[in-house]
Amino acid sequence: MENKPLLWIVIPCYNEEAVLPVTAPMFLEKIHALAAAGKISSRSRICFVNDGSKDNTWQLICDFARQDEHFIGISQSRNRGHQNAVLAGLMEAREYCDITISIDCDGQDDINAMDDMVEAYLKGYEVVYGVRSKRDTDTFFKRFTAESFYHLMHAMGAETVFNHADYRLISARVLESFADFEEVNIFLRGMVPLVGYPSTKVYYERAERLAGESHYPLKKMLALAFDGITSLSVKPIRIIVTLGMLVSMVSFIGVIWAVVQALLGNSVAGWASTICIVCFMGGIQLISLGVIGEYIGKIYMESKHRPRYIISDRTWQPYQRSYRG
Ligand code: UDP
Ligand code: MG
Repeated sequence: MENKPLLWIVIPCYNEEAVLPVTAPMFLEKIHALAAAGKISSRSRICFVNDGSKDNTWQLICDFARQDEHFIGISQSRNRGHQNAVLAGLMEAREYCDITISIDCDGQDDINAMDDMVEAYLKGYEVVYGVRSKRDTDTFFKRFTAESFYHLMHAMGAETVFNHADYRLISARVLESFADFEEVNIFLRGMVPLVGYPSTKVYYERAERLAGESHYPLKKMLALAFDGITSLSVKPIRIIVTLGMLVSMVSFIGVIWAVVQALLGNSVAGWASTICIVCFMGGIQLISLGVIGEYIGKIYMESKHRPRYIISDRTWQPYQRSYRG
């Protein structure tokens, strides 16, 4: 039996009937080319994940699977979004392959970067991030919003690889550890780095969509950013605490000022006490909210049941892995 790594390309598809007939043969060609170059097993697979499409996407996928054994399709019961679709594909793949590469189905991500990704894997890297070298083909608006997205994420304490979307190679071993992340609110870009293992980057140029339309308008991007921040960090809660402290400090000064004004007789009766109470309560309330938030943040992190440690190497073999069936 050959010992070349068995690759599964995982491809989320949502209403992609326009572009699938164009890109599916390209993926197949890539598998053949990589196998011919002796880099991967010829039993590698292309796994389409239908994300509850409302058009003919699933029928197309079924046709591909009938025509060529390299094509496999799985379908989500309903539309759950890009991240969940990718996750479903990766979890499906992990027991049957050595490496996975997740990529969009619209041909925007250069499939030739897969050569470098596999090469990096063969050198010992287990996670290879596909990073866009430039965004010439994106409109100014898309580029601006997308780059702001990464800056915002970073400022909010959610660490991600800059200009990396969901085009990446992950080894089955990493996926095995990743399966222990049991959270429901998933943001793959932020979670994969948390798993660890040796990783590297591969640069590629992003092209325009070959056909069909983007499913990521600004609204969805903002939702993704918000999900990313809240699923990776409790920094927004910390900001409330800091704000509370600041407001308290300002109110303290306000209280002194009001008292001084009252003593100097510059105010009407009752004004100073009202101001004091308003300032004092405002500060106290924000601090209290922050403290409560801090505990909620802890509960939130706990409720994720994330793994507390991940062992990547052992000097002994506790059990024989049998993921090739
Ligand atoms: N996608 C998905 N479910 C969704 C939305 C998108 O599986 O609810 C898939 C889509 O088919 C594509 C990938 O996610 O393969 C990226 O979507 P798109 O190309 O529309 O986003 P963009 O590249 O414009 O950010
Ligand atoms: Mg796209």
